[in-house]
Amino acid sequence: MLKTKVLEIGRKIIQTGLVAGTWGNISAWDSSRKGFWITPSGMDYLALSEEDLVLLSLENKVLEGERKPSSEYLLHTAIYQSRPGIQAIVHTHSAYATAHSVSRVALPGLVEDLVMIAGGEVEVAEYYLPGTTQLAQAAVSALGEKNAVLLANHGLVGVGYSLEEALKVCQVVEKSAQIHVMSRLLGTPVLLSQDDINHMRNAYQNSYGQRT
Ligand SMILES: [Zn+2]
Repeated sequence: MLKTKVLEIGRKIIQTGLVAGTWGNISAWDSSRKGFWITPSGMDYLALSEEDLVLLSLENKVLEGERKPSSEYLLHTAIYQSRPGIQAIVHTHSAYATAHSVSRVALPGLVEDLVMIAGGEVEVAEYYLPGTTQLAQAAVSALGEKNAVLLANHGLVGVGYSLEEALKVCQVVEKSAQIHVMSRLLGTPVLLSQDDINHMRNAYQNSYGQRT
């Protein structure tokens, strides 16, 4: 079920233009196996099957799978280690979010859906080469307790309590990044206050949507 969902999210990041080609990656925490299923390195998302996914432990050991895991697996391990409770990670290279990371401009808390789901301003982590421990540590530090972080000259990482939520983070950050660019063309964006951001984040975490 979890593996099927990883494949489904892989198709969605291609179909919605969050990733071009084989870049980006997705993982989901499997509590019964004490590890996470991650997409393989450099394979076509539309052609992936469950056997292509790799199960990694928090010590970066392959627990199951024949493929080479995504080259960004250290980033995923570092996030699961530092944020217990996070169940899924989606990493994309979408254009407006990456434009912010290239210009090293944090995405401010300027629209309500963004601050609810991401938790406020989305920071840009310091630049390091992809796949390195330094990049993983920089991303964890800029992520903090929020659900999104921009990787300098690279892309975006969204995390969540489910694969659907992590995907939604990436979609909302990309849309908000586009709004930010447009609002600057029109004038000076008026940002939400930190009090209002806290209120909305709290409401999203505790009472938004249909709870069973
Ligand atoms: Zn990447």
